[in-house]
Amino acid sequence: MAAAPDELREITTALGAQRIAVRRSTRRTRTISARREGDRVLVLAPARRSAEEEGLIRRVVERVLVRERNARDRSPDLGPAGASALAVRAERLIGEHFPGLEPPASIEWVTNQSTRWGSASIRARTIRLSHVLAGMPEWVVDSVIVHELAHLIEPSHSPRFWALCRRYPRTDEARAYLAGVEHGMRLREPDSQPSSEPRSSSGES
Ligand SMILES: [Zn+2]
Repeated sequence: MAAAPDELREITTALGAQRIAVRRSTRRTRTISARREGDRVLVLAPARRSAEEEGLIRRVVERVLVRERNARDRSPDLGPAGASALAVRAERLIGEHFPGLEPPASIEWVTNQSTRWGSASIRARTIRLSHVLAGMPEWVVDSVIVHELAHLIEPSHSPRFWALCRRYPRTDEARAYLAGVEHGMRLREPDSQPSSEPRSSSGES
């Protein structure tokens, strides 16, 4: 028996217009699900239409779109544009808190660093930030950059180091924020928890 062709149309969602393809199956009785397929969202629906179907379709399509938007918000630009944006940011923070400090040789987002928020190589003067930070409030990310910049001056977590960090006024608030995130990550992903201390350590430690 040939399957009915997908119904192609456009619907209006809370996140804007979206092209969809509705594929009906006699094996489905009640549930409606959706997934991305190219520029469309494919909706798998029962053969028999119900009165509430349109609303259910919109809801599953919106769920796909929200998931995609959240994933976009969380992914930093790992390429040269992302790195140069970070360099500008680091220079601004240097100007505000560590005037005269030579900027790092490089500062970049990395995805292979799930146990530390940031790291600094003192010798190479490079800073790496975990992609997990992207999507967090700007002031939290700034505090991690400040932490790593402070390591370029003071490698160890000494009182002098923390005094440098606290030139950034929201340092303690940001540490509390990140501690809360770490706690949540630990509850969800027991196998990939970030190290508890230090919050954001030097790569040379
Ligand atoms: Zn540190």
